[in-house]
Amino acid sequence: MKRKETWDRIRKDPGVSVLIIGAGINGIGTFRDLALQGLDCLIIDQGDFCSGASMASSHMLHGGIRYLENGEFRLVREALHERNNLLRNAPHLTRPLPTTIPIFKWFSGLFNAPLKFIGLLDKPAERGAIIIKMGLMLYDAYVRGDSPMPGHHMDNRQEALKKWPQLNPQVRFAATYYDGAMPSPERLAVEILQDGEAEGDNAAALNYVSAAGSKGGAVLLKDELSGEELPVRPQIVVNAGGPWIDFINQKVDGKTHFIGGTKGSHLIIDHPGLREAIGDHEFFFEYVDGRIVLIFPFRDRVLLGTTDIRIEDPDQAAPTEEEIEYILGMVPHVFPELEVTRQDIIFQFSGVRPLPPASGATGQISRDHSIEIVEKDPGQPWPILSLVGGKWTSYRALSEETADEVLQRLGKTRRASTESLPIGGGVEYPSDEEKQKAWIEDLAAQTNLSANRASILFGRYGTRAEDVVCFLEEGEDQPLKHHPGYTRREIAFLVKNEMVTHLDDLILRRSLLAWLGQLTPDLLKEVAEITAQQLDWSRERVEKEIERTREILSHDHGVRF
Ligand SMILES: Cc1cc2nc3c(=O)[nH]c(=O)nc-3n(C[C@H](O)[C@H](O)[C@H](O)COP(=O)(O)OP(=O)(O)OC[C@H]3O[C@@H](n4cnc5c(N)ncnc54)[C@H](O)[C@@H]3O)c2cc1C
Repeated sequence: MKRKETWDRIRKDPGVSVLIIGAGINGIGTFRDLALQGLDCLIIDQGDFCSGASMASSHMLHGGIRYLENGEFRLVREALHERNNLLRNAPHLTRPLPTTIPIFKWFSGLFNAPLKFIGLLDKPAERGAIIIKMGLMLYDAYVRGDSPMPGHHMDNRQEALKKWPQLNPQVRFAATYYDGAMPSPERLAVEILQDGEAEGDNAAALNYVSAAGSKGGAVLLKDELSGEELPVRPQIVVNAGGPWIDFINQKVDGKTHFIGGTKGSHLIIDHPGLREAIGDHEFFFEYVDGRIVLIFPFRDRVLLGTTDIRIEDPDQAAPTEEEIEYILGMVPHVFPELEVTRQDIIFQFSGVRPLPPASGATGQISRDHSIEIVEKDPGQPWPILSLVGGKWTSYRALSEETADEVLQRLGKTRRASTESLPIGGGVEYPSDEEKQKAWIEDLAAQTNLSANRASILFGRYGTRAEDVVCFLEEGEDQPLKHHPGYTRREIAFLVKNEMVTHLDDLILRRSLLAWLGQLTPDLLKEVAEITAQQLDWSRERVEKEIERTREILSHDHGVRF
């Protein structure tokens, strides 16, 4: 539904069963689940969809092998199950990720792990081959019979150096197991959101609308574009504000202390040598301070991360000079011959994990999720369900739990499950490579597209490529002057159909243009002109949008041109 229509509808009728504040992955997942049950619900975000913590992840779909040493067995089992669900439900935006742990010691960690488990060791500790082997056996055991991917295996030094000649020759073993990767979490989130909206007239989503306060038994919504405020009267509020949860509760009358967030920063680098050295494997390893860090294949680039630093205000999260030094320094630890410098950085990002407050080492804070409930009272005539913690990987499980709590409170019963429901372009996705090839050939044959172009669109949008192509064919089209991998009508499709409100939504969250370092001043201008045509922007607005995008790119992502 269009932004203006939704806003006008709230003006006419402010009643809604469920108001979800925050459209990160947990809010979006809950929205889709509730919409599927036929409930009327409204989801809002003060920024764009998936622009908070959900945009700052390490792009891994994982059980979290590391959490085993903290004794988080329930979380690991659930996350592995959800990882497999996502790989099946969104095959167009996820893929299996071979992950390799280079191991430099035999026995370390054997005593530390049990100590950690019973809470007597409160710092990261060195992990040797035996403890890693035990962890991987448990990891495999949790998904036996339910995994689309093979189990783990160990290579000795000789085998490892043969596979990865640039690897630190001091390595004793390399353990390889499978997790999942999501190269574009922002696109995945938008598709889940759109699936929710498509469930009927009762589910609506608004970006750039914040929960600004409460008055006379209503939550005040503020349109961040016009400044206009409107009351909305929900029966239940779901606070899916991630690291902003306590700030939101304060605004809507509940004072809480549910969050003690930690910041994590990442760099994307253009370094063909390193990209070649890792192959298609993620390298997941222990750094000098005992923290686990990663080198991740991100298309033809490399993603490096991450840090884990306490932070009070999520609005202040941006990579610092110290973090950049720390992250760059981790590459020679594993690939000593490869020099990575600041000149190689093409993009950087930071986000805050919405973790519960806890003392001690940040790496030891539980990554599990919970629903914290503040019951209604005379001044606040709605219960507030705050979604604390959780992983991108396990968003569906938390969303389902939240939806069940909402349904029970409203006296309704669940009528459908999201467990094996395909997402967006994952619907009717051809099951193997041969069928995918045939699907692409079929699409090309029915249209004016070359097989190559059909394949690119299938890679980006899965089976939704059909809708994209329908739109492309309705008018004259041509490749962008400054990025022949996209066409003018493809950009127009995204703007028109994916709730783009600001130019940066398109650049940062509907496409990977900025993440892959493909943006140039000319391309930004070209894309801004196409967006302006779709959204009826004035010349002045176009200039403002370009300036806004430049500022965000410079401040949050270190991209300056
Ligand atoms: C550095 C880092 C690395 C991570 N890596 C991984 C990983 O590899 N794999 C994995 O599974 N998980 C990972 N995670 C965890 C995962 O990304 C988060 O737990 C998850 O995205 C949290 O989602 P959320 O919806 O709860 O919060 P968010 O995505 O932060 O959503 C909250 C939303 O609330 C909005 N909001 C705030 N205030 C208001 C207001 N007043 N009104 C309206 N809206 C408001 C914000 O704009 C925001 O969009 C990582 C997290 C971080 C930070």
